[in-house]
Amino acid sequence: MKIGGLIIIIVVGVILIALIGMVARFWFGRRRASRDWAAANYPKLKDVGTVKKLTILPLIDWNTKDTNLTGEPGVSYLIRADDATILFDVGYNAQNEHPSPLLRNMETLGVSVSEIDMVVISHNHLDHVGGMGHQQGKSFGLSGQPTEIGNIPAYVPVPLSHPTARTIVTEKPQTLAPGVATIGTIPRQLFFLGRTPEQSLAINVAGKGIVLIVGCGHSTLQRIIDRAEMLFDAPIYGMVGGLHYPATASREKKLGLPLQSIFGTGKWPWTPITREDVRKAIKYLKERNPQLVSLSAHDSCDWSIEAFRSAFGEAYQDLIVGEEISIG
Ligand SMILES: [Zn+2]
Ligand SMILES: [Zn+2]
Repeated sequence: MKIGGLIIIIVVGVILIALIGMVARFWFGRRRASRDWAAANYPKLKDVGTVKKLTILPLIDWNTKDTNLTGEPGVSYLIRADDATILFDVGYNAQNEHPSPLLRNMETLGVSVSEIDMVVISHNHLDHVGGMGHQQGKSFGLSGQPTEIGNIPAYVPVPLSHPTARTIVTEKPQTLAPGVATIGTIPRQLFFLGRTPEQSLAINVAGKGIVLIVGCGHSTLQRIIDRAEMLFDAPIYGMVGGLHYPATASREKKLGLPLQSIFGTGKWPWTPITREDVRKAIKYLKERNPQLVSLSAHDSCDWSIEAFRSAFGEAYQDLIVGEEISIG
């Protein structure tokens, strides 16, 4: 056999072995995630308390109020829950800039880093931890160069480091501040990206109920609601953030490929998210009669956003960088 033929056989063989490995990882990983989900029975979070006032200011997301603010296919929200000020995720910073779009938007919106009492990271994906370098390095960062945030707590879903913050892995549901809890991580196996534990925040607003704040929503809307209903007696009042519904288009494309439709779904790569998936999720949420629904455009397409808007009517609010959502 000629050398050229041998090389082709070796290359095809290596690709085949890699593909079989990925299929096996996905298949076993999905089974493990299902087992973990079934085994995760938590008691009610009785000590969580309530807040009188909750505001959510998107600092990073896809849509912005005006051209002075930078939009990204990533997430960072400033949450003020009575006296606690929480930075939920730290954006994408795709070009590893300093100051990052997050820091620039904070300055434009008059938000100081020193106001932040704690950081919560939903999951270790580049659009939530501050870029590819942080995702791969298992860390998070607000900008392209180290940013002083002091020795504040950072609640992370998997071990992630930070030069100064005290990182605490919050696999199990727990109270983080009066009226503020993490619902704990819910694992999802993604075909290319592997096992992805993701946590969401639950804020108990007095006289209203639980407002869920979600990063990418890989866990699925249904499981996030199921977990919240396991933990709280109060009704689901609202759901704000990313739910990963790129049903007709993807914000991120490379070589014409719709990356979000292929990479983040928890399905086989050839069975992307459908309109029917979105309709089912809307029905599930609508059965709780929420009074606030706001879907991030960073990982959902315009079709899905319009579907949510028309399903929830007055309860629907656009999620826009620079436009504060206020409850209570
Ligand atoms: Zn995301
Ligand atoms: Zn993600």
